[in-house]
Amino acid sequence: MSRLNPLALLCVSLLAAAAPAASPHPIAIAIHAGAGVIEPARMTSEREASYRSGLAAALDAGYAVLERGGTSLDAVQTAVRIMEDDPQFNAGRGAVLNHEGDAELDAAIMDGSGPRAGAVAAVRHVKNPIDLARLVMDKSPHVLLVADGAEDFALEQGVVLVPRSYFRTPQRLHELEEARRAENERARAAAVSASGTVGAVAVDRAGNIAAATSTGGLTNKHVGRVGDSPLIGAGTYANNESCAVSGTGQGEYYIRQLVAYDICALVHYRHLTLAQAVHQVIHEKLRRTGGEGGVIALDPAGNVAMDFNSIGMFRGARDSAGKRAIGMYREDAK
Ligand code: ASP
Repeated sequence: MSRLNPLALLCVSLLAAAAPAASPHPIAIAIHAGAGVIEPARMTSEREASYRSGLAAALDAGYAVLERGGTSLDAVQTAVRIMEDDPQFNAGRGAVLNHEGDAELDAAIMDGSGPRAGAVAAVRHVKNPIDLARLVMDKSPHVLLVADGAEDFALEQGVVLVPRSYFRTPQRLHELEEARRAENERARAAAVSASGTVGAVAVDRAGNIAAATSTGGLTNKHVGRVGDSPLIGAGTYANNESCAVSGTGQGEYYIRQLVAYDICALVHYRHLTLAQAVHQVIHEKLRRTGGEGGVIALDPAGNVAMDFNSIGMFRGARDSAGKRAIGMYREDAK
């Protein structure tokens, strides 16, 4: 047995006591519930309060997952599932309706460690498409399953299926009627409209990031139309080497510009800050082509950017430094 010098032992224990405990990795989450014509003039105080409480419920539930030591993947899935169940948002129940009056739902989730991804498109009976997207990632060798094939997979996995009527709300039926009326007067392209898609990005205590997006797409869309949300790199992307992004806006523009990946590529290859990369893509590149909308983005250090070139965007962010913000209008905190 070696002889221990009592003085050396004392020094070692004093040093150990003085050493700062390794501080946990900062945690953060950001959410959105769609971008578009969101302005005080079109809002009643009741509707505004209802949107804000819907956003707060999703934000705080996602944050609670991170606070308990859960993964960013579980946090974004939890936040998105809550917004899918909230009929005021365009995802799950209350999703907008296609030209034939049905909801056709798209969703994607991406794990920045790996990276791994799962997505579903054009499903009509899946109560929570984000849960099915997660199962595609975790339990299949594929990234994207669509329509009937996706629903067969949902059955195999024991996912909750509901009748199509579950998704239709009086508000969405009214919006479809309006869009159809407009269609008779103008070009069809002008008679599809967006708003209310939901998404989340998060970083957990291990420093892993994740992104998730879920949507009914556009009101009055063609049957079979798939938007950017379930397309990895267009409306949803996460990679621990750069950032996590969830987008909302006219999906066709996001697909053509590969918006979510483009932001992360600027961070990764050009070493732009997250805010700079988001600004460049949303306010310059996307706007130049006429694309309207916004994104929420986050990097592994926990920096968050929530930006949009539309009038407003439903959004929220919370982190372990004490920030908690919910916004709708441009003048609300970013
Ligand atoms: N990006 C969605 C889509 O085009 C719509 C939206 O974000 O409102 O499907």
